[in-house]
Amino acid sequence: MEITLVRGDITEQRADAIVNAANSSLMGGGGVDGAIHRRGGPEILEECRKLRASRYSKGLPTGQAVATTAGRLPARWVIHTVGPVYSRSEDRSGLLASCYRESLRVADELEAGSVAFPAISTGIYGWPMDDAARIALDAVRQADTSVEDVRFVLFDSTAYATFEARLQ
Ligand code: ADP
Repeated sequence: MEITLVRGDITEQRADAIVNAANSSLMGGGGVDGAIHRRGGPEILEECRKLRASRYSKGLPTGQAVATTAGRLPARWVIHTVGPVYSRSEDRSGLLASCYRESLRVADELEAGSVAFPAISTGIYGWPMDDAARIALDAVRQADTSVEDVRFVLFDSTAYATFEARLQ
């Protein structure tokens, strides 16, 4: 597996799958989630609604992942995963690692060779970037997956520099 870092917007990535830092409602939100639904168009939300009406009537649990179409985005699929909200008093790093592992498991089911990830939980959910980068890179490196191209798409130069330092 090759791990690469890109500074940019995840909605512009050409990859078999891009990962959405969703919330458990699957009904959209801010940050990455908002950008994906805005640029991907209504087809994605339509499939999310169907998931809520069937397999995930109570929402997608934290640490799990599920795929939909990518609508108008230049990817084939969106893999939605729900990161944990950061907590100072409770160690939720296992759930954050699970987001990466489960997303790669879903990617394997789709036979996706390339997957682009955002820095899950580091926005609205408040996870410190350096710790999130460590967890993300460890989880991806340790994953048992056929995905060959894993890309981390970092939105700003601080996030990029933090991942770069951790990758080395
Ligand atoms: P969470 O709710 O899991 O914290 P957010 O979407 O709020 O998810 O943020 C996750 C990370 O993604 C943050 O570091 C944020 O700066 C970054 N981000 C926001 N929009 C985009 C985008 N369009 N492409 C890539 N990264 C983004």
